[in-house]
Amino acid sequence: MLNNLLSPEQQTLLPHLITGSETIVCVCHQNPDGDALGACLAWAELLRVVYGKTAQIFVPDQYPDYLQWLPNSEKIIRYDKHREGCDWTLAHCDLVFCLDFNTPSRTADMQTALCASPAKKVLIDHHLDPDVETVLTVSRPEASSTCELVFRLAWQLGCFEQLGKHFAVPIYCGMMTDTGAFTYNSCDPDVYFIISQLLTKRINKDKIYRNVYHNFSENRLRLTGYVMLERLVVDSARHASYFTLTRQDLKRFHFMKGDAEGLVNMPLQIKGHRLSISLREDTEKENLVWVSLRSVDQFPCNEMAAQFFNGGGHLNASGGKLFCSMKEAVEVTRKAIDAFAHLLA
Ligand code: 5GP
Ligand code: MN
Repeated sequence: MLNNLLSPEQQTLLPHLITGSETIVCVCHQNPDGDALGACLAWAELLRVVYGKTAQIFVPDQYPDYLQWLPNSEKIIRYDKHREGCDWTLAHCDLVFCLDFNTPSRTADMQTALCASPAKKVLIDHHLDPDVETVLTVSRPEASSTCELVFRLAWQLGCFEQLGKHFAVPIYCGMMTDTGAFTYNSCDPDVYFIISQLLTKRINKDKIYRNVYHNFSENRLRLTGYVMLERLVVDSARHASYFTLTRQDLKRFHFMKGDAEGLVNMPLQIKGHRLSISLREDTEKENLVWVSLRSVDQFPCNEMAAQFFNGGGHLNASGGKLFCSMKEAVEVTRKAIDAFAHLLA
């Protein structure tokens, strides 16, 4: 049932690519989340255990504190801190695994070196419209997460038996974080078959949940209260809302990367709510507002993100950015809600 990700030819090609490569790199998208890091860590673990290869993991920039407990995360190399070394490796490596992104621009400043790299590339991802030049593309937008795809590859290649906790923990973490702890995009029965298999490796799924979701600072909890009380603007007729987070707000609550994560999901707790939008000023750059969108059912966040917020993503979870003041960002947001009102009422 799970052995359908690779065609027979691809099933031969993938191990061949790995065994024929000396230097291997795994890369993921900017602002790495649990799925991006989980996929890199689990895939690197598989390469080590099954093929005896030590892959390097390059991430474009900082990842949140609440993921720093992931096994082997200390080995992850940040491109923004080690640019020269990463550029050199990308220019000289044999194989690059592109995990959890569909297009090179999602790797931000790493994009140039990634595109210029003469290495063969393999894409493993669950975003729409893959656009990376590869020798093998494993793209399944219907999958819960890239971690699910990494599991399926391990399963199809027949190496799951050999793998242990250091594979199972990051896979579970990525599947959990990309589905809001299995509350959306997680109705495929295979997801639960996979979890049952991961549990045979004696992972503690309850602890993984706590590590991720009960790992807030006091500041983050107070920021949540502040945003919901003072900054949330609800359009009841449209079943939609948005909130703003200015740089001043972020300073007041000693904002750290990842502190805003998940806030955008909260307004969807309002009965009948269909769309939630978060607008957050960058902590350093002027006129840069980060946008996150979340929806339920068939409301297409990705279309709204593409049309109004220079972004994209999944049907129910998308992101983007605006190059303007917060005041203007709010105007754009109001226009976006107006334009999509027929899908919200
Ligand atoms: P988040 O709100 O967590 O930043 O992003 C939610 C999802 O939207 C991500 O998993 C990613 O797929 C997508 N996304 C975020 N930012 C962008 C963007 O700038 N462009 C595109 N195409 N997708 C994005
Ligand atoms: Mn993902």
